[in-house]
Amino acid sequence: MTTPLVELDGDEMTRILWKMIKDELIFPFVDLNAEYYDLGLVYREETKDAVTYDAANAIAKYGVGVKCATITPNEQRMSEYKLSEKYKSPNGTIRAILDGTVFRTPICIDSIKPVVKNWKKPITIARHAYGDVYKATEFRVPEEGKAELVFTDNNGKERFRETIYDFECPGVIQGMYNKDSSIKSFARSCFEYALDAKEDLWFSTKDTISKSYDHQFREIFETMYEEEYKEKYEALGIEFFYTLIDDAIARVIRSEGGFIWACKNYDGDVMSDMVSTAFGSLAMMTSVLVSPDGKYEYEAAHGTVTRHYYRYLEGEDTSTNPMATIFAWSGAFRKRGELDNNQALIKYADALEKACFDTLNSGIMTKDLVHLAEGIETTAVNSKDFIAAIRKNLEAILA
Ligand code: NAP
Ligand code: MG
Repeated sequence: MTTPLVELDGDEMTRILWKMIKDELIFPFVDLNAEYYDLGLVYREETKDAVTYDAANAIAKYGVGVKCATITPNEQRMSEYKLSEKYKSPNGTIRAILDGTVFRTPICIDSIKPVVKNWKKPITIARHAYGDVYKATEFRVPEEGKAELVFTDNNGKERFRETIYDFECPGVIQGMYNKDSSIKSFARSCFEYALDAKEDLWFSTKDTISKSYDHQFREIFETMYEEEYKEKYEALGIEFFYTLIDDAIARVIRSEGGFIWACKNYDGDVMSDMVSTAFGSLAMMTSVLVSPDGKYEYEAAHGTVTRHYYRYLEGEDTSTNPMATIFAWSGAFRKRGELDNNQALIKYADALEKACFDTLNSGIMTKDLVHLAEGIETTAVNSKDFIAAIRKNLEAILA
């Protein structure tokens, strides 16, 4: 490896899996060149979260990172880890620094059939993780009165004033926003990701109803496509199209999969849970943060699997599924290989994924998958034995 991979360690059960994966599936096969950042909550507290910022800047510098799941502190974690501050979600911090978009893709195997029977290929959801209802200002309207939307420019001049509603009784009100710069970054990340994946890109909003707000999203996507991506897409034989969110949902359900669906913040939040559930399991969902200037951070979509960790601490060998975390590593190795033109690294990434598929297809799986698999004899194993089985298959492939 000529360029270091930025490695972001994490918390709880996924931290245990992280070490197993490195010891069994990486160190014996790769001369790993990594720049290590410990995002475990203990070290985040020690550095007052500076380590998270350093890690994000390292990804911006080198271009590719791989991240273990981390705890986002809440009140309970504050006392559990004796924190001096309620640190923000590391993912939120990294996303803000890289200005990226999150793409979530399921790992599909033959023996686990999606709930939607015509889905044959993975569906990737791209969520615009900025603004809208997540940064909205809202309050309860206590009594009769007038609600207005006002915009004042920096010179103090009132430019717009519109009545939202003349309340004749109590109610609720909300004001939300987005920024052209953020929508453009989102659009660019989506266009680049689809080019990279060689898959069609769909984008949906409700611009028939939201004629300024959602329309601006549509306008930015369509203009960028016409001006910068149309030729590249046509040359590759892939397609970009815009459609209404209701139409998109009907088409997604009838489709056979194999495309990228870009969604506004709320739609992406909701639809990604629907799509991941329909494909089978959160433990089989990978996630990659892509910045508009082509920096990549790979991770599993699930969290630190706290319930399993407490059982692990009591001495139990848990059957926690490491697939999404392994695929975060293979995704990062493949991308590093592509950027550095390192064929051996790409070959290793492919082999690692094949070894995982060979293991699952032979019926050896973690407990969470056993009740989902159909049409094959299955054996439920713990994480250690599952990773050992993958290692055996990997050795056979690379022999
Ligand atoms: P979670 O860690 O995703 O786990 C929720 C449940 O899903 C688990 O209890 C387990 O169900 C099942 N599950 C998830 N991943 C699995 C795997 N790999 N193998 C087998 N089963 C799996 O979500 P959470 O419990 O809500 O959150 C725990 C911590 O993770 C929180 O502190 C949260 O802040 C953090 N988190 C981090 C990220 C991230 O870093 N990207 C994302 C989400 C949450 P059973 O117990 O029924 O087996
Ligand atoms: Mg959600």
